[in-house]
Amino acid sequence: MAFELPPLPYAYDALEPYMSQKTLEFHHDRHHAIYVSMLNTLVKETEFANKSLEDIILATNSDTSKAMIFKNAAQVWNHTFFWNCMKPGGGGQPSGILADKFNDRFGSFDQFVTKFKSAGATQLGSGYAWLVLDQNQLKVVKTRNATNPMVNQQIPLLTCDVWEHAYYLDFQNRRLDFLQAFLEHLVNWEFVTRQLEMYQLSRLAQLKLTG
Ligand code: FE
Repeated sequence: MAFELPPLPYAYDALEPYMSQKTLEFHHDRHHAIYVSMLNTLVKETEFANKSLEDIILATNSDTSKAMIFKNAAQVWNHTFFWNCMKPGGGGQPSGILADKFNDRFGSFDQFVTKFKSAGATQLGSGYAWLVLDQNQLKVVKTRNATNPMVNQQIPLLTCDVWEHAYYLDFQNRRLDFLQAFLEHLVNWEFVTRQLEMYQLSRLAQLKLTG
């Protein structure tokens, strides 16, 4: 079955003024849509045609002959995840288990903010800043181009797309201002918390199966 472009989980103007309708129209309807149609063309009648995005990403990551499939599959996954990492009226500090984990791991939420902004700002060229689980510990990482942390056995919890197409219409070259606006006004911490809880539940199930 062909991959489909999922609709945005909010209206195109819902993230104004931090992410404009124009940015979302270009980013979702053009960039994300092209990754989906390219992927469908590339995997048609191949061994990947009926695989999940995750399976395709993990199977093609280190195979240079499959670099285009990897890039488009990862970009489809990354963008769907990125849309869900934001919501209108989001941002600020999380509460609950995530707040505790930030304090335990980074000392404070502000320390996390500094690390995340630094990861996004220092990613040379295109890429992503991420909050991941690595060996069951929170960690801030950055990736190049389309790369997704799952290829490094890390579980993505939050991402910010720092390709220029994500912010140029709204912030021009001020990537740090975009990262600041993302953290202060856009992050959907409930979604991030759900990723953490889903991972913990699946880990518990695995432990029960093997225990
Ligand atoms: Fe993008």
